[in-house]
Amino acid sequence: MMRFQPPRAPRQFRNLNATQLFCPTCQRSMPVREKLALYLPTGALYHYVCAQCDSVLGKKEDAAPRVG
Ligand SMILES: [Zn+2]
Repeated sequence: MMRFQPPRAPRQFRNLNATQLFCPTCQRSMPVREKLALYLPTGALYHYVCAQCDSVLGKKEDAAPRVG
């Protein structure tokens, strides 16, 4: 099943990637890394990939980063 998150996540925990998702390849819940998948007109699409085997376990859309 796909997990769908409304685009309203607060921006503070940008560096806190403690998320774990179930990886079918590793057959267990694994920590994930954020990986930029695609640039969108509104921001960017990130994939969550397994820290061990690089399988894509999820994704999220992020609004364009605002610097400054
Ligand atoms: Zn894995």
